[in-house]
Amino acid sequence: MSTIRIALHGAGGRMGRALVTAMAAMDDMELVGATDSPNSAVLGQDSGTLAGVGANGILITDTLEEAFAAADVVIEFTRPNGTMRAIETLAASPRKLVTGTTGLDPEQQQRLADYARKHATVVQAANFSVGVNLAVKLTELAARVLDENADVEIIEAHHRDKVDAPSGTALLLGRAAAEATGRSLEGDAVYARVGQTGARPPRAIGFATVRGGDIVGDHTVLFAGQGEQVEIRHRATSRANFATGALRAARWVMGVQNGLHDMPEVLGLNSR
Ligand code: NAD
Repeated sequence: MSTIRIALHGAGGRMGRALVTAMAAMDDMELVGATDSPNSAVLGQDSGTLAGVGANGILITDTLEEAFAAADVVIEFTRPNGTMRAIETLAASPRKLVTGTTGLDPEQQQRLADYARKHATVVQAANFSVGVNLAVKLTELAARVLDENADVEIIEAHHRDKVDAPSGTALLLGRAAAEATGRSLEGDAVYARVGQTGARPPRAIGFATVRGGDIVGDHTVLFAGQGEQVEIRHRATSRANFATGALRAARWVMGVQNGLHDMPEVLGLNSR
C-alpha cells in the first residue's frame, strides 16, 4: 500500500484540525504540508499540536508553494479567496485537489472548473459526509418508489447558534425528493405553517426546523403514506464525518485523470 502525501490548506480551521486528527489515525496517508491565511494567528504552530493529536513536525505556513511541493493531493477547507489562492499556486505546479469550501461565486466556480480541465483532477463537494450523500440517494429511491402514495416532510434539527433555516442539507434532501418525482422545490416547498393553513397539498414538500442546544445536525425525510411511514434519517455527531469523507475523496482522486468530480461519483452512487 503506497502512502498518499497530503497538504492541508486551512489547517488551522475547524475542518483543518478535524482532518489532521482523522489523518493521524490512518496508515495510508501522510501529512506533508499545512497552510493557512497570511493573517492567521496559527502560523508557525505545529499542526498536530493544534489539532490535539500531538506534535507531527508539520508547521503551519502561509508559503503555499513550499507546503504543496511534496504533496500528491491538496485538501482545502478555507474561504473562497483561499480556494482561489490555492489554485493560482497549483496552476504553476499541478496537484490533485479536494475542496470543500462553500460560497464560491460563479466566476470563482468557473476558475475552479478551468483548473480541473487544464491542470489536475478536482473533487468538490458542498457536503463531504458519506452518510448525507447516501441519505440523498436513498431519498431519491424512496421518493420514486412511493411517489404519489406518500407525503414528503423533512425535519431538521441544529444547535442554537445556527443562523439560517432550513439547512443546506435539508434543501438538498428536499430537492432530491422533488426531482425524483417531477416536482420542483421552488414550486412545491412549504417552509412554514401557522394558523388556518388548509389541507396539505398532495405535492407539497414540507420542511420543519428545530433549533436547540448543541445538536450538530439531524435530518429526517419522512414519507407518510396510508397506513405506513418510511423514514430516512441522518444524525451527525461531530465534524469527523466530513473529514472522513474528504479523505475518502483524496484516496479516490489518486486513480482519476483530470476533470471536476463530486461526492456521489467518489461513492459510486451515480451508477446505480
Ligand atoms: P473555519 O473558519 O474554522 O476555518 C477556515 C480556515 O481557513 C481558517 O483557519 C482560516 O484562517 C483559513 N483561511 C481563510 N481564508 C484563507 C485564505 N485566503 N488562505 C488560506 N487560509 C484561509 O471554517 P471551517 O468550519 O473549517 O469551514 C471552512 C470551509 O469549509 C467553509 O467554507 C465551510 O462552509 C466549509 N465546510 C464544508 C464542509 C463540506 O462537507 N464540504 C464541511 C464543513 C465546512
